[in-house]
Amino acid sequence: MIEVNRDILPSLVFTCGQCHRILTDSQEFICSIEDLELVVVKGATGIAIDKIQQGCSLLSANDSTYCCILCDHCGVAVGRLYLKANESLQCLQGGFSFDAKAINSHQLGQCEIRARTAGVGPLPCMIGNESAADTPPAKGASIPSEHILLERMEQLEADLIKGMILVHQ
Ligand SMILES: [Zn+2]
Repeated sequence: MIEVNRDILPSLVFTCGQCHRILTDSQEFICSIEDLELVVVKGATGIAIDKIQQGCSLLSANDSTYCCILCDHCGVAVGRLYLKANESLQCLQGGFSFDAKAINSHQLGQCEIRARTAGVGPLPCMIGNESAADTPPAKGASIPSEHILLERMEQLEADLIKGMILVHQ
């Protein structure tokens, strides 16, 4: 018996395995069938439906008819639009059945790299600018204090020379 999974998916974006264009997302999810490696959704974008009808066997011989779903951008077959399906797999009819092997998925909120000051303050690339007042100074951002020290040293040198001149007099 083939198991139909209707558990709500995490927030996913599905893309073409070949050209990586967006095809659908988890908000369109109807069900998934692990045994057939299919993700069935009610909406898709950037797809074309092949006009040639084909038959195949899901549970018994020739119990289904379908048309191929193609990626509109690169033309690769990414799934099937079932016109007729075995009685126990009625969920396939009326939905776009994407082949799990032909698509990729990206889960929202799973970024590999995050900005250090996410949403607040300047971007990391801007640290070191004068506007980054409340962020600790990055390496190489100590130029203002160096400048102040140089000024102070010049002032001390000048004072010293003045003092030496006074002593000589
Ligand atoms: Zn594609």
